This record gives sequence, structure tokens and C-alpha cells, in this order.
Amino acid sequence: MIPIDAHLVAAVPVVGLAAFACRTGCGACCTAPSITSPIPGMPDGKPAGVACVQLDEYLRCRLFGHPERPAFCASLQPSAEMCGSNRQAAMAGLLALELATRP
Ligand code: SF4
Ligand code: SF4
Repeated sequence: MIPIDAHLVAAVPVVGLAAFACRTGCGACCTAPSITSPIPGMPDGKPAGVACVQLDEYLRCRLFGHPERPAFCASLQPSAEMCGSNRQAAMAGLLALELATRP
């Protein structure tokens, strides 16, 4: 099966498939988690709850497919558990995870 990465340019219907597609217009996993590695435009990474500067007006990643995209981002794969049924659910879950794993 072809892996589906986070922040795909277009949502892909996955009826009947086990894979979970990134939801268009969400951006929760580019906002809720803190990122400690440099991001172009955010040299110190970003704090939790702050939208990444690389999100475009449609909440898509401008760096998708580029080597400048942090490895952390590529490690986040869409899943029912992470993405929930809407952006609010994803934000709540990811912020709770952030708090639970804070050093
Ligand atoms: S939380 Fe899930 S649906 Fe939302 S942007 Fe990230 S991968 Fe896509
Ligand atoms: S670099 Fe792209 S994938 Fe990573 S947080 Fe920013 S917008 Fe999201």
C-alpha cells in the first residue's frame, strides 16, 4: 500500500481502504504540536498551539515534498486516532498529547 503522508495537497477518498487521508483545510498537526527543529521562517522551531508559517491560506504545507520540511512533520501520518472527525478534535487531542509529553 502507498503510504499517505500528512498535509496532502488534496484530500483522497479512502472508502473501503484502511489508509486515512489528510483532511483538506485542517492544519491541526501543523499548529498544535511544538516543533524543536528549525523550520524555514521559524529558525527556532515553533511553540505548541502556534500555526507554522509554512501553512498556506488553505492550511496546506508549502514545504511538502521539499528537503527543508522537518523530519518531525514527515513522521506524523494521518490516522483516525490523531485526526479525529474534525479539526477541533484533532487540535484537542494533539494539545493533550503535547502536555502529556512535555519534558
Ligand atoms: S491532523 Fe490529520 S487531517 Fe489534520 S492536517 Fe494533520 S494529518 Fe491532516
Ligand atoms: S513545515 Fe509543513 S508540515 Fe511541518 S508544521 Fe510546517 S506546515 Fe506543517
